[in-house]
Amino acid sequence: MKKYNFTAGPCILNRTVIEKTAEAILDFNGMGLSIAEISHRSKDFQAVIDEAEALVKELLEVPEGYSVLFLGGGASLEFCMIPYNFLIKKAAYLNTGVWAKKAMKEAKLFGEVVEVASSADANYTFIPKDWTCPTDVDYLHITTNNTIYGTEIRKDLDVPVRLIADMSSDIFSRPVDVSKYDAIYAGAQKNLSMAGVTVVIVKNDVLGRAPREIPTMLDYRTHVDKGSMFNTPPVVPIYCAMQNLRWIKEQGGLKAMDKLAQQRAEIVYNEIDRNKLFRGTVEKEDRSLMNICFVMNDEYAELEKPFFDFATERGMVGIKGHRSVGGFRASTYNAMTIEGCEALVQCMKDFEAQH
Ligand SMILES: *Cc1c(COP(=O)(O)O)cnc(C)c1O
Repeated sequence: MKKYNFTAGPCILNRTVIEKTAEAILDFNGMGLSIAEISHRSKDFQAVIDEAEALVKELLEVPEGYSVLFLGGGASLEFCMIPYNFLIKKAAYLNTGVWAKKAMKEAKLFGEVVEVASSADANYTFIPKDWTCPTDVDYLHITTNNTIYGTEIRKDLDVPVRLIADMSSDIFSRPVDVSKYDAIYAGAQKNLSMAGVTVVIVKNDVLGRAPREIPTMLDYRTHVDKGSMFNTPPVVPIYCAMQNLRWIKEQGGLKAMDKLAQQRAEIVYNEIDRNKLFRGTVEKEDRSLMNICFVMNDEYAELEKPFFDFATERGMVGIKGHRSVGGFRASTYNAMTIEGCEALVQCMKDFEAQH
């Protein structure tokens, strides 16, 4: 039976990206060697990382003066690298969920942290709007897509201070005005590649201002200077990222990704709103196009497990909601097809018809 992968992360990748990565693991560039067993300093791998970097710059239209890095450690390591490199005295954070909170926790090790706004009291069901950014902070940190709660900030904010964003779960799903940010980071396993690499886009001239010694590996300047090759980078995930970036480009780039994301989300949200059994969990205007969270309506609460089993039998994978929200979460990243969303909707309709 055909499987539809709605997992939140690591998540769906286009099949050709996986096949090409598998081919390179078996025989890279017809060398008779695996990409996993050659030097990361070989010209063959250098070409891979160069192309990946060039594609990130091309697709996101990264302006001059920024570096694109491929690092290890996941987005979670960036939670501490950001304040290590950018926090001088005080930083502002918008608290929109678990990941934002984790980022704040690390920043507190380096200085004062101002929470500009939070939707924690409402279990993060919306993006706070009524707040102003203090002007005496070193930066404002936001999480553009809240993977667990299904809310998303889809426009680039105008703030009077440096703007830094965790875009782990919506990078490459829409065009972004990179010039508004001083740093953007994203763990790869939601929309870019397999787990193991983190892409960081950082403005060069803001580095080196924090008044502290920074361990070599945690200093962005190390990786800028060495083109992400200070130490051995995660070669296979970088190769997979390159293949996925090629695929995104072939599909028409980020405008095409954005259009598809809107179409996919509309199909699923429309059904959630129409179907008597279900309701969405977040404010409509803040609904994420990447992670669609929904629960059973109260009067059908006992049907949660039966729907999960029904959907699983129909080939829906990974739709169980995060334990802090419950219910269901359908993650509709770049590689999810319209057909997959329609299959989920059909499943919801057929289940409704039985009840
Ligand atoms: C998954 C996720 C993270 C954590 O990423 P790791 O690569 O596992 O460290 C951070 N932020 C957001 C928004 C995420 O979705």
